[in-house]
Amino acid sequence: MTWNLYDRLLASAGSDQSISIERESGATLTYADLSAISGRLAGFLASIGVGPDHRVAAKVEKSVEAIALYLATLRAGATYLPLNTAYTAAETEYFVRDAQPTLIVCDPREAADLRAIAAKAGGRVETLDQYGKGSLVDAAAGRPTNFDTVPRNKDDLAAILYTSGTTGRSKGAMLTHGNLVSNALTLVEQWRYSRNDVLIHALPIYHIHGLFVACNVTLAARSRILFMPKFDAEQILAAMARSTVLMGVPTFYVRLLQSPSLNARTTAHMRLFVAGSAPLLADTHRAWKEKTGHEILERYGMTETGMIASNPYEGARIPGSVGRPLPAVEVRITDPETGNKLSTDEVGMIEVKGPNVFSGYWNMPEKTAAEFRADGFFITGDLGKLDRSSYLYIVGRGKDLIITGGFNVYPKEIEAEIDAIPGVSESAVVGVPHADFGEGVTAAVVRTPGATVDERAILDALSGRLAKFKQPKRVIFVDTLPRNAMGKVQKNLLRERFGNLYSIKVG
Ligand code: AMP
Repeated sequence: MTWNLYDRLLASAGSDQSISIERESGATLTYADLSAISGRLAGFLASIGVGPDHRVAAKVEKSVEAIALYLATLRAGATYLPLNTAYTAAETEYFVRDAQPTLIVCDPREAADLRAIAAKAGGRVETLDQYGKGSLVDAAAGRPTNFDTVPRNKDDLAAILYTSGTTGRSKGAMLTHGNLVSNALTLVEQWRYSRNDVLIHALPIYHIHGLFVACNVTLAARSRILFMPKFDAEQILAAMARSTVLMGVPTFYVRLLQSPSLNARTTAHMRLFVAGSAPLLADTHRAWKEKTGHEILERYGMTETGMIASNPYEGARIPGSVGRPLPAVEVRITDPETGNKLSTDEVGMIEVKGPNVFSGYWNMPEKTAAEFRADGFFITGDLGKLDRSSYLYIVGRGKDLIITGGFNVYPKEIEAEIDAIPGVSESAVVGVPHADFGEGVTAAVVRTPGATVDERAILDALSGRLAKFKQPKRVIFVDTLPRNAMGKVQKNLLRERFGNLYSIKVG
């Protein structure tokens, strides 16, 4: 059998009348429909010369047709390149110039911008809107529904996903058919996915979580997807009565917890709540269990590696831990300076090796070489530790580590202490340039509604709990923490905002 991800996910889907995707309107597509639509689109792609060694960029709103385009690209043997819909024209131009897609599919509202970019960088432009309409679908309309999926090998590219690039230029992570097949099949097994499952899909589909985890796993198991254009707490709660799985970023769970309708009854039909893409607070895990009786299953992964670790389906799901490495995935903790392996419970760099790990950064051989060890381990950039039972704990991104007066401070430790103070809803701790200390530990804190806790109270509460060098020099109250679409706190924005807090003396 070929390694083409489409074949592995949807082999024999051609005649399967079970429902694959249900739109917000209630209209449904069967697996056979999905196969037919993707067959037509693949036929169109092939007719314009898209095949192996070609890339199809998609900067489109969430729609079932966008999923069909993803599948069609795989079937044509080409590489799928989803782009975040929030990118500006200048950012998009960078990606198009870098990746040189043969076809760019965009929202009709952006067609003029994209045509101008394509005129300079090359590539043909077609449109697809949020309702699944546009020149792409028109062009594919009369084509045959069957298409012979192009065989692909394990190491052939299936997708390029650009990392969010908060430090320097975004990098295009090259993911192979082998990477995506292995991760999808592992998760089907680990999370006990079956045909009886119904997934609530409210994530964006330009990111690994919503596309490769949510869609690949669900399609591979031949389960049903309830496709929602965006996160809407009440809509999700209403869907739970006929669903079994929710995959979300931690913010989903925080927001759902605010709804009075969340309780054991509303969630009774659900069997699995998965969280990832950003840290799930142990408090959120506990509050969810208290209200619903369900334990959220937290997992850890990244664009370059797919999923790395997961809490178990059966067995202890430990709040604050991302669980154990997945089968066939090796995780080790190393000294960030020397690369030497560290022991149990020691905090260091998380490194990973396995069939899930990408093949390198597009057009960046030096960056690729710098982020792999000689023995094939990928240096994730995340800091963490493994405990005696091989549970992994993440303490933050390496670049968020604060070095103050020569001491290392891990923001997560400080955030956990601050979050435990009454009146605090959440916090983010960053290092900001400081004249005396190099970096000053600085906390951004969101109060719970109605709370009046102030800077003094927070500093007093921490003084008995943290060593002096770990205590924030300043506490700044904010209405909300800046987050990206995947719920990650954008610490770079906080560092910029607080940049002059301890102005450095020059000269
Ligand atoms: P992305 O490539 O956008 O998926 O971002 C990957 C990064 O998100 C990882 O390197 C981690 O820093 C973070 N991340 C993902 N899942 C978790 C998790 N469960 N807990 C903490 N951080 C996470």
